[in-house]
Amino acid sequence: MSKNIELYEESKRYAPGGVHTSIRNVNPMKVFTKGEGAYIYDAEGKKYIDYQAAFGPIILGHSHPYVNRKVIEAIERTDLYGVGCTDLEVELSRKICQHVPSAEQVLFCNSGSEATYHAIRLTRAITGRAKLIKFQGCYHGWHDYVARNMLSAWDMIGKRDPGSAGMMDEAIDNTLICTYNDLDDVERTFKENPGQIASLIVEPIPHNIGCIMPQPGFLEGLRELCTKYGALLIFDEVITGFRHSIGGFQKVAGVTPDLTTMGKAMANGYPIAAVAGKREYMQRFNTYPGGDVWFAGTYNGHAVGTAASIATLELMENEPVHEHIFRLGEKMRSGIRTIHERLGIKAYVAGFGSVWTTYFMETEPKHYAELQQNDAELYVAYRRKLIDKGIFKMPMNIKRNHISYSHTDADIENTLDIIESVLKELIVK
Ligand code: PMP
Repeated sequence: MSKNIELYEESKRYAPGGVHTSIRNVNPMKVFTKGEGAYIYDAEGKKYIDYQAAFGPIILGHSHPYVNRKVIEAIERTDLYGVGCTDLEVELSRKICQHVPSAEQVLFCNSGSEATYHAIRLTRAITGRAKLIKFQGCYHGWHDYVARNMLSAWDMIGKRDPGSAGMMDEAIDNTLICTYNDLDDVERTFKENPGQIASLIVEPIPHNIGCIMPQPGFLEGLRELCTKYGALLIFDEVITGFRHSIGGFQKVAGVTPDLTTMGKAMANGYPIAAVAGKREYMQRFNTYPGGDVWFAGTYNGHAVGTAASIATLELMENEPVHEHIFRLGEKMRSGIRTIHERLGIKAYVAGFGSVWTTYFMETEPKHYAELQQNDAELYVAYRRKLIDKGIFKMPMNIKRNHISYSHTDADIENTLDIIESVLKELIVK
């Protein structure tokens, strides 16, 4: 039995399904034992160029020496106190408020799900309203407010589609679903629920369904509609934040939300997340004297996450991190397009900055329902074959790829060669 399978079989004895978060349980199953820069290694020592990037956090590279050193230095001196605040929290919050346009103040938590939960509950307290708008296909975490109409089966689009058994009916029904890139749909929803919508949450680029770009005016339109109907705009920048610029995609788009949630690339894979926004809103949290919105967490602001995040942001400030990953992203996208042309493959290569997705469909998708045109079988077969040849990405339909600061031109060229050979096997035959 292979070492991967042996360990996985043992893992299944102790953990349901052998994995510790949903959708990690994919075929072919790998047990990873090492990550270094752009590469990851499975239990048999097989090396992969990694583009999965742990769903996005790995922006500098795995086990990044500078980040690790800063974390070790920090935890040799300090950890967690339960009261007061730490010097690391002060430094990190100063940096975030300096870089992220919507962040007048910030609070730390441990996961993107916590951040979106806190942000949404805050908007309910501020507005005295219950309802939330989210978009079909967007993912904002596992909790009841948002676990609805994520990767819905095609026949469930437009229907009530809770993502989990055990959810509260009231939570499900207070989450209204709109179509991304469709401002008319959003305005209709506001009109049909007068004075009832507390907030609208959006991934400014819905990376949970690959890379669907906001059409010109869409994010600006959301900003206007939220203001017009008295709702708060939340940008969920858990993926886009720090990856698309140190100030998030809001800085690129020039649209400032009321609240922002962040995580993932914020600390290059160490666990920390944040909610940020206007001071007057953030002071409703009960970390502020008199604040009435509960905000708590034993591990909030732990030295490991805060030190890792400071180190990650320092590198972004001092080195051409974004220049590098954007250049390699463009090299990858244009390289894949050239291969498609050469082989006569009709596919759409989507992406922004360091992120890309090849959809096996001819036109640019504008929202989730249009992804029905993507050839899902081919998409997954393509990814499985790439994994076999040492290119790691999630072998699931409609998933994005990420480039890190550790990837080199040679990695991209090597990947393009392998992509071409896999496409030849799959399509040209
Ligand atoms: N928001 C977005 C946009 C995400 O992509 C994710 C995770 N994929 C989350 C929130 C939830 O973050 P976490 O898994 O850290 O709870």
